[in-house]
Amino acid sequence: MSRRERIIELLTATEEPMDVGEIARELGLDPREAASIYEDLEHIAHSLKNSGFVLLVQPPTCKSCGYVFRDLKRLKKPSKCPRCRSERIYPPRFIIRPRDERG
Ligand SMILES: [Zn+2]
Repeated sequence: MSRRERIIELLTATEEPMDVGEIARELGLDPREAASIYEDLEHIAHSLKNSGFVLLVQPPTCKSCGYVFRDLKRLKKPSKCPRCRSERIYPPRFIIRPRDERG
């Protein structure tokens, strides 16, 4: 199974959305590989387009002021909060669910 397939399997089975650090740990990857998982997730979002499943993204949030990054162009952790300039950001979290599921 490829790494992307393992990520799809993991995010379909998980109860709670996971960040890339948790995904890396769960798949037994080096923590330094975590950043490259964002790339996999972008490919996964595309490849799920015509399937019955969808990659849901819980947006990153600023730990200092609570700012929510709703308009992410890329799936990754932003480096800085535009509101308070803090660099302490909760990373985005990911989960795969059937497309017709609400809430
Ligand atoms: Zn902030």
